This record gives sequence, C-alpha cells and structure tokens, in this order.
Amino acid sequence: MKYSNFMEVSFKAMSVNEGFARVCVASFCVQLNPSVDEITDIKTAVSEAVTNCVVHAYPTSVKGDVVLRCELEGNNVSITVTDRGVGIKDINKAREPFYTSKPSSERSGMGFTVMESFMDDVQVTSNSFGTTVKMTKKLASVADVEVG
Ligand code: ATP
Ligand code: MG
Repeated sequence: MKYSNFMEVSFKAMSVNEGFARVCVASFCVQLNPSVDEITDIKTAVSEAVTNCVVHAYPTSVKGDVVLRCELEGNNVSITVTDRGVGIKDINKAREPFYTSKPSSERSGMGFTVMESFMDDVQVTSNSFGTTVKMTKKLASVADVEVG
C-alpha cells in the first residue's frame, strides 16, 4: 500500500507566520526522509507562497487567513497555500519573471519563478474570493515509517 498522510494548518496572514509555515511543512516532510537540498527547496517555495498571501492577498489593514495543506502520497509532496483575499486578475502575467504589482516596495517579482524552479509543478487558481497555489515535488527517498 502506498504511503499516504496529510496535515493542514491555518494562520493569520502576518509576516511573523512565514517562518512558522516553513518549519511546519519541513517538519511534516521529514517522514519521507528528504535530502537537505529537497527540504531547502520546499521551505523556499512555501516561504514565497505564504509571503504572497501576507503581502498581496489582503491589501487593507484587516488581515485574513492562510490555509496551508501538505499531502504525502508515496514519495510525492503536494502543498497548497490558500488565501481568501483579493485574487490575481491576470495569472499568466503574475507568473512572468520580474513582474510585480509592487515595484515601489522592493519586490522583485520573482516569487512564482522561485516556486517553479524549486518545485516540479506549480498551479495557480484565483478569483475575486482568493487564490490557491498548489505545488508538487517528487522526492528521491521514501517514507521509512509504517503505513496505516
Ligand atoms: P517577490 O516575490 O519577488 O517579492 P512579488 O511578490 O511581487 O515579488 P511574485 O511572488 O512572483 O512577485 O508575484 C507576482 C504578482 O502576483 C504580485 O506582485 C501580485 O500582484 C500577484 N500575487 C501573487 N500572489 C498573490 C496573492 N496570493 N494574492 C493576490 N495577488 C498575488
Ligand atoms: Mg512574491
């Protein structure tokens, strides 16, 4: 039987929670025996996705929530980061390297590009009720814990 597990947490879209999200996913993925490089890649991608929720999703001072879900299937890691913010009008444009809607606030527009380069696949869905980024990565190793 294929190894299968998941976790889900939610937290307020505040920058103080970016580190929490990174560590949370990294600790959960340890059961798949990832390499240091793999875990670094995952942490970096999660960081970019969560930072986007913090910086872009809730432009008013009222910060909404972020839901972070991590699923493990065999040696595949799938991470979804969801907000209920303003959404992205043009996803293709947003995914272009160096595109940012906040050039004046030291943003480089490389968040999605970083996610794409560190993960195997990145899917973005968005509407005026929020955004979901789903990222997947296949690890070289497999779980060494009992299935069930
Ligand atoms: P950087 O990540 O390099 O600091 P950035 O965040 O502007 O800069 P990307 O992460 O590539 O760059 O995102 C590109 C654009 O997509 C953002 O400028 C923003 O307009 C939009 N965007 C990304 N994530 C969200 C989100 N969760 N909600 C609303 N807009 C978003
Ligand atoms: Mg970004």
